[in-house]
Amino acid sequence: MKRTMFSLLQPAMLVLITVFWSIAPASWIDNPFTVTAVSITTLLIVQVLELFMERHAGWRMYRLEFLTDLFYAVLFFGVISGVEDSLAEAPLASAKQALGITTNWALHSPFLVQVALVIVVVEFGQYWMHRLMHNSPVWWTHAPHHHITQLNAAKGLVGNPLELFLVSLSVVALFDLRKDATFCAFNILGVVSTFAHANVRNTVPRWYSYIFTTIEAHSLHHSVPYLDTRCNYANSLILIDRVFGTFREGEACVVGQDERQRLSILQQFVFPFRPLLAMMKAKRGKSAPAAGTMSP
Ligand SMILES: [Zn+2]
Ligand SMILES: [Zn+2]
Repeated sequence: MKRTMFSLLQPAMLVLITVFWSIAPASWIDNPFTVTAVSITTLLIVQVLELFMERHAGWRMYRLEFLTDLFYAVLFFGVISGVEDSLAEAPLASAKQALGITTNWALHSPFLVQVALVIVVVEFGQYWMHRLMHNSPVWWTHAPHHHITQLNAAKGLVGNPLELFLVSLSVVALFDLRKDATFCAFNILGVVSTFAHANVRNTVPRWYSYIFTTIEAHSLHHSVPYLDTRCNYANSLILIDRVFGTFREGEACVVGQDERQRLSILQQFVFPFRPLLAMMKAKRGKSAPAAGTMSP
């Protein structure tokens, strides 16, 4: 009974978010802070769950990890999402208007269809961007996320700012959609991704793990051997990995890269410039040390 209750926790949170946005008053929908408030509230709930339902003792939160996660949560919600909006979403929306693109069929679709549309569009883009990162020099922006040596609720927000920007790009702004449906989809994606990084010991129903990314699938993506990270790319919709043949079953409890070398925030910020710095060093005639994680 207790096990069944816990296994329904994640699906129940998705349902609660959907109900919340489908009945939210207009003033809440129009307030840009509502979607952030829901994201932070759900993140805090999962962090509390980590205290009572620990998955691995090796992932137990300690002061430095907590402060790092806090830094990235502030960076993401306070800076990255604003930059994303100004540099990507707003110009795309303007281009759509200038070109006279309309998708009234989307706007007049039922609420749940619009939510599903946003989830699929966002995740499809994230999947290919993430896969590209693992198979090209763009890896240098993504590698800091793979240098985390333990998984926790907020770890999905930890990474180089360039990567956080790139992986958040989407073409959702090209669609005419209800604001509440868009926000609902973003909160659902956030909760799934939060659980997929969380140190929480709970199982999910089989149908849920077939569609959505779980901690089992995502921890495998954080495996120590670099080549083993080339699977389970979908941040939240693991169904996409199943469709494109990159899904792998299993779980990893030891995570990290470069022999599990933990990076400081400064190291995470400068990591993408390592190849450039190594080249400059070599040019100056000094011996160039190995530049860190192997590039793809
Ligand atoms: Zn990755
Ligand atoms: Zn991750």
